[in-house]
Amino acid sequence: MIAKEMQSAGDDRSYDVVVIGGGAAGLSGALVLGRSRRSVLVVDAGRPRNAPAAASHNYLTRDGVPPGALLADGRAEVVRYDGEVVEDEVVTAEAVGEGLFRVALGSGAGVTARRLLLASGMVDELPDIPGLAERWGRDVLHCPYCHGYEVRDQAIGVLSTGPMAVRQALLWRQWSDDVRLFLHTGPEPSDEEYEKLAARGIAVVDGEVTGVKVSGKGDRISGVELAGGTVVPCRALVVAPRFDVRAKVIESLGLETAESVAPDGTVLGNHVAAGPGGATSVPGVWAAGNVADPMAKVSIAAAMGVHAAAEINFDLVEEETRAAVRERRAA
Ligand SMILES: Cc1cc2nc3c(=O)[nH]c(=O)nc-3n(C[C@H](O)[C@H](O)[C@H](O)COP(=O)(O)OP(=O)(O)OC[C@H]3O[C@@H](n4cnc5c(N)ncnc54)[C@H](O)[C@@H]3O)c2cc1C
Repeated sequence: MIAKEMQSAGDDRSYDVVVIGGGAAGLSGALVLGRSRRSVLVVDAGRPRNAPAAASHNYLTRDGVPPGALLADGRAEVVRYDGEVVEDEVVTAEAVGEGLFRVALGSGAGVTARRLLLASGMVDELPDIPGLAERWGRDVLHCPYCHGYEVRDQAIGVLSTGPMAVRQALLWRQWSDDVRLFLHTGPEPSDEEYEKLAARGIAVVDGEVTGVKVSGKGDRISGVELAGGTVVPCRALVVAPRFDVRAKVIESLGLETAESVAPDGTVLGNHVAAGPGGATSVPGVWAAGNVADPMAKVSIAAAMGVHAAAEINFDLVEEETRAAVRERRAA
């Protein structure tokens, strides 16, 4: 339940902190800032990354809760400490002086902030296969820790689009002994990889995947179609999306981005370059959650928001202390 109605951001209102994005990272940061007696506005466009999933898993005490319910509870907690949450989109944000940012919203309103917490998440770019995007987060999956248990012991296909696919297949084998690797557009596995796949009983299917079949029964994937028309039965298909940040606000702030690279050197996408507490290349701007770490799960994104908010509060404390000392000396 939301304790307070969502308000509209008034033009030219000033806040200590504007939080861009109201997912787990942004709301956790806003909660800490509200409890630190900072004025905080969360602007959220309402498209959290895990929205297509029926349930969110592995957040201790909230395992299995629908993603929307988790965020609704989070918004209510922020509002409880006088934080404001608006459904809107930050179009641009820019520094307009030392310790001052101007934030333009899609509704046409503009607000100013002394600090920014960027928590705008990222976008999963899916392989372009007919029928695949519609199943994303339901039975087209990427993260075994998010969905593996729900498809345990079922026929799982892994779609290869890059060198990570063999690792993915070996990983998903933990949840089912019926795993198939579809080579699709990915590279031919090495002899060593073939040996590992064979040892774990993972079949390798040659040929390009051209479609995802859904049976009427239970609204579930029933198989994967290959060029030539063969349909290989499976109940879930694992893919490796590209993880990219939403560039517009990041560019307007002039933030540095970096490539997100897997341990084997595969480029997975990009993220905003940030230190452990979320400090970015632009003074006064912190980043938390998937925008800074595409691998962050909900609990990690929330923790990043908490950490960044504490850093922001301390930065403001330091600024206020400097000003107080100046004033005292001048008196
Ligand atoms: C299908 C799927 C299922 C998943 N399941 C799980 C799971 O079970 N457990 C788990 O721990 N993790 C899961 N994850 C990962 C989880 O989604 C992320 O860890 C989490 O969403 C990251 O939180 P975030 O706050 O960084 O970003 P998000 O949750 O994506 O929130 C970002 C918010 O910012 C908003 N936004 C973006 N740009 C702007 C802008 N310019 N102005 C205003 N608002 C903006 C977006 O609309 C969005 O609401 C899953 C991911 C996917 C794709």
